[in-house]
Amino acid sequence: MRIVVAGGDGFCGWPTALYLSKQGHDVTILDNLVRRKMDDELRSNSVTPIASLEERVVKWKELTGKEIKTFIGDLNHYDFLKEVFRQTQPDAFVHFAEQRSAPYSMMDREHAVFTQTNNVIGNLNVLYAIKELAPDCHLIKLGTMGEYGTPNIDIEEGYLEVEHNGRKDKLPFPKQPGSFYHLSKVHDSHNIMFACKIWGIRATDLNQGIVYGLHTDETDMDPVLVNRLDYDGVFGTALNRFLIQAATGHDLTVYGSGNQTRAFLNIKDTVRCIEIAADNPADRGEFRVFNQFTEYFSVKELAEKVQKVADENGLPATITHLKNPRIEAEEHYYHAVNTKLRDLGLEPHLLTDEVLKGILDSVITNRNRVIKENVIPSVTWK
Ligand code: NAD
Repeated sequence: MRIVVAGGDGFCGWPTALYLSKQGHDVTILDNLVRRKMDDELRSNSVTPIASLEERVVKWKELTGKEIKTFIGDLNHYDFLKEVFRQTQPDAFVHFAEQRSAPYSMMDREHAVFTQTNNVIGNLNVLYAIKELAPDCHLIKLGTMGEYGTPNIDIEEGYLEVEHNGRKDKLPFPKQPGSFYHLSKVHDSHNIMFACKIWGIRATDLNQGIVYGLHTDETDMDPVLVNRLDYDGVFGTALNRFLIQAATGHDLTVYGSGNQTRAFLNIKDTVRCIEIAADNPADRGEFRVFNQFTEYFSVKELAEKVQKVADENGLPATITHLKNPRIEAEEHYYHAVNTKLRDLGLEPHLLTDEVLKGILDSVITNRNRVIKENVIPSVTWK
């Protein structure tokens, strides 16, 4: 298949591009490199030293003989996007290319506006490009489990059977997101659903949990292929952030009670889920939703798991509870369905002590790169 991976220089996109290329697909990366510029803006960095995109694809070709083409540009520049479609004629368009940090979107008006403009307009451009230039192309769009929030009922995969005043319907599952970033994803979902209905586009919305881990078999092949790993208070996600805190002798900082429960998956499962979606495209006009996660944990449980493994490896760590910078329920019901990807063949890599130790070891190698002042959250929701 000809597959464009938009956001292919990022944490999820880079290992996905390599994995799909390894499976024999003709892969093209589109990215405007804005994530690297955000590191400069925040005076932060990836724990792992990442090579430039150009060096990465040259190394991949050297090691495997496989070529990954690159287009450096912005989804918000429609002429650029149209040119990518003209030159690649994709069978599938994997869309990772969005601003993905909730705290970044909550910094101030400018960052909220940037997040929603970048994400919502970029995605709308992709929908138009598919309509105009590749109507049969399957859009594989990364959404997030955070779109649903934490309702007091089970979270279904996209749709809910509702009976109201004696009548029944299958409706989009209600969305109660918790940041301007998560809201941008909800707006995207609505736009995609509408485009599927009116233009007959085929789309899969992957409501992904929080991704942890670093390496895949492909990124492990050479240091030049190493993936990025975020730890700062803005881009560092729970679990990866705890592991880095443990490796650097920092307290594990749980926000509030830590009873907030979230869905998680290993980066190795992210790449496989994209392959499953690509191999089993949605029908023309179908807006398909998969919940892309394998397990869920409370934030406190995660910190305790990391504390145990770190302790066994000579890195005693203390768990501290910080005043929660976010506005979110700390005591809530959480149960979400995730059977569709499993039914299509996903075999999850579950979170074991061995997996935690593997990530911890990679972090230890680079721990002198961590800028300690960046670890504590600096953005509040108020
Ligand atoms: P990332 O920031 O590491 O990667 C995103 C990439 O997209 C970056 O390389 C960035 O330069 C590029 N990009 C952003 N806006 C662009 C634009 N307008 N035009 C072209 N390129 C652009 O993020 P990630 O962690 O790899 O996340 C990828 C996707 O998965 C996002 O859509 C995110 O919302 C979703 N997701 C991520 C997680 C997670 O835990 N990382 C969880 C759920 C969903």
